[in-house]
Amino acid sequence: MNVLAIGAHGDDLESFCGGTLALYAQRGDSVTMCVVTDGRGRPKGDPDTIAGIRKAEAEASAAVIGARSVWMAIPDGGLWFDEPTRHRFIEVIREAQPDVIITHPPDDYHPDHKTTSRLVMDAAQVARTSNYPSRFEPHRAQVPVAFMEAERGIDFLPEDYVDITSVWDTKIKMLTQHVSQMMPPEKYDPAFVMPPVEQTFFYRYAQIVSAFRGLACSIPYAEGFRWWRAANRIVTRRVLP
Ligand SMILES: [Zn+2]
Repeated sequence: MNVLAIGAHGDDLESFCGGTLALYAQRGDSVTMCVVTDGRGRPKGDPDTIAGIRKAEAEASAAVIGARSVWMAIPDGGLWFDEPTRHRFIEVIREAQPDVIITHPPDDYHPDHKTTSRLVMDAAQVARTSNYPSRFEPHRAQVPVAFMEAERGIDFLPEDYVDITSVWDTKIKMLTQHVSQMMPPEKYDPAFVMPPVEQTFFYRYAQIVSAFRGLACSIPYAEGFRWWRAANRIVTRRVLP
């Protein structure tokens, strides 16, 4: 199976569906982790340098599970719903030829998350169009779009769950590749020493949300999902691992 996960920022995919991506990869599926923005917004420092660091961190995280990393490099906070950007999303989808697409829920908190979600949904539909001008073949398959967890779980009621208990350590290993995001946002510090991982905000956040989702299924850790109910998106088979 080809799995395409599209997150607005480096570390979003790890936070919201990293365990699920690890399970897909573990069972032999081909996983593409696409990050839309270039991360230049944080921590404070030369924006081009920060963007380069964020890209390397995203690649290191993808490498943990052997996923392909796609870096769209749109400036943080500079993501808009327009034709040129939608075209780039269509090309990402057509190139990956996914059997499932995972992205943010449409009403998540950050404009980059919301815009990513809308771009994915619209691009998935247009990617089917036979004569759309593209470098790649049309993507006509019946492809479900899953919405991953919302930021801090707010107003997100999952309708499907994945048991990530067996890959918990892998999810944390992916998250902790994003060292720059564990620094104080006031200044990039190349000499920053990571505290023990259990003391980081990343770990606490992931543990609380994953344990809460796991509680619904009476297991230690889970990730929750919702599905986009629309034509060409509904299938009768189990798609999640
Ligand atoms: Zn984000």
